[in-house]
Amino acid sequence: MLLTISTTHQPATDLGYLFHKSPFRCQSTNLPFGIANIFYPEATEAKCTLALVLDIDTIDLVRGKNRKNSSMPLEQYVNDRPYVCSSFLSVALSQVFGQTLNGKCKQRPDLVETAIPLTARMSVLPCRGGEHFLRNLFEPLGYKVNAERYQLDVNFPDWGESSYFTVELSKTTTVKELLNHLYVLVPVLDNQKHYYIDENEIEKLIKRGEGWLAKHPERENIAKRYLKYKSSYSREALERLMEINPVEVDSYTEDNEQSEDEVENTLNLNEERLGSVLSALKVSGAETVVDLGCGEGKLLRMLLKDKQFKKILGVDVSIRSLEIASERLRLNDLPPVQKNRINLIHGSLMYRDERFNNFDAAAVIEVIEHLDKPRLKAFERVLFEFSRPNTIVLTTPNKEYNKVWENIGSDKLRHKDHRFEWSREEFKTWASKIGEKFGYTIRFLNIGLRVDNLGGPTQMGIFTRNN
Ligand code: SAH
Repeated sequence: MLLTISTTHQPATDLGYLFHKSPFRCQSTNLPFGIANIFYPEATEAKCTLALVLDIDTIDLVRGKNRKNSSMPLEQYVNDRPYVCSSFLSVALSQVFGQTLNGKCKQRPDLVETAIPLTARMSVLPCRGGEHFLRNLFEPLGYKVNAERYQLDVNFPDWGESSYFTVELSKTTTVKELLNHLYVLVPVLDNQKHYYIDENEIEKLIKRGEGWLAKHPERENIAKRYLKYKSSYSREALERLMEINPVEVDSYTEDNEQSEDEVENTLNLNEERLGSVLSALKVSGAETVVDLGCGEGKLLRMLLKDKQFKKILGVDVSIRSLEIASERLRLNDLPPVQKNRINLIHGSLMYRDERFNNFDAAAVIEVIEHLDKPRLKAFERVLFEFSRPNTIVLTTPNKEYNKVWENIGSDKLRHKDHRFEWSREEFKTWASKIGEKFGYTIRFLNIGLRVDNLGGPTQMGIFTRNN
């Protein structure tokens, strides 16, 4: 893992004072997970660059007390951790440059508060959430961001892009501020942590986020990712940061929470899709709704906000998704009246289940493409023959639209778990057959920005029971 920090502030070798490391020799420090090497590839009056190379010992990680369990036995040995900027970098920053992070420099205290032109370059930075999220994190802080994305494998361009970037961040600022931003935001971009998250992490976030995090437009995403989606922690951290920066309290509203989804640049599509589903459900007059394959509960949250819906059930086969949904909906903190309206259950759309019965409507949003095609028949019977709600709102990707997006060729799927994707014609044929067989009338809609001859990115069918 390589991080360099350069300045053209003159004399540039002053950087040595700020980092407490002489520009004229190499130094190494042992860390619990490997060795941190610090040296200056260039050190002149005009320009000085400090390099931090982390040599992470993955074998030691496996054998040591930091052992990580994994369902893939080789993953412990063969992974990206030695090469990318991650939470290991943050730990190294605090152990190797602790005084710099805290803004201490006995020899030249004047330098600590001086904003100087700085460029940080990270050779490989995993950006989960893509370039869009990377920019959303650093641009509001005043950085000029240069990002170069890597393909998954240059020998197989069809596999598309990876989430790895070489990133250069430039700003005239203090070294202290730059390091604090990197300390917090690098693991946020990577969205993993190599150690267990406990309450001490709240303190670290508050300390390192002081002065900037409370007013950052992505503060909620930052806190959530930093604290590994432990919502009680991120809430506490944000509340305390707000107390430290009371000016910002006014601009903070609960309704701002949509920023959580801005991670995906599909935000608009996602929102539009859920908005269309919600309005179809409202128009149907449904008061009780089952969301089959509810995932992390985005639709459930909208349903809960609307008083028309008196009974809401979320079903998913993934326990992890249900846990996230429960946290996001803060189910444990809801007042009893609200809590009685909603329930989350673990279940599969493949098996007949009485718990899906007696709902006015069902939503099946971006789920069928995750089912093996030969098993679609089982799902059709479960929903259209046995549960038989009056209204079924179902969405699935429109394959034709894939050519519009850079990252996927026209024959490729949008997500690695998709078993198939349908053209509009294929969806219509499937839906019409079901309509005929089980007695439903169907209305088809395009969702998202339409392109001539290709339709919209998402296709929706609203099935209404004939009797
Ligand atoms: N409807 C959600 C999630 C879509 S992702 C949304 O629009 O945001 C697809 C979801 O379907 C995942 O959460 C996955 O766990 C769930 N799923 C896949 N196969 C399933 C099955 N057989 N039974 C129930 N849920 C399933």
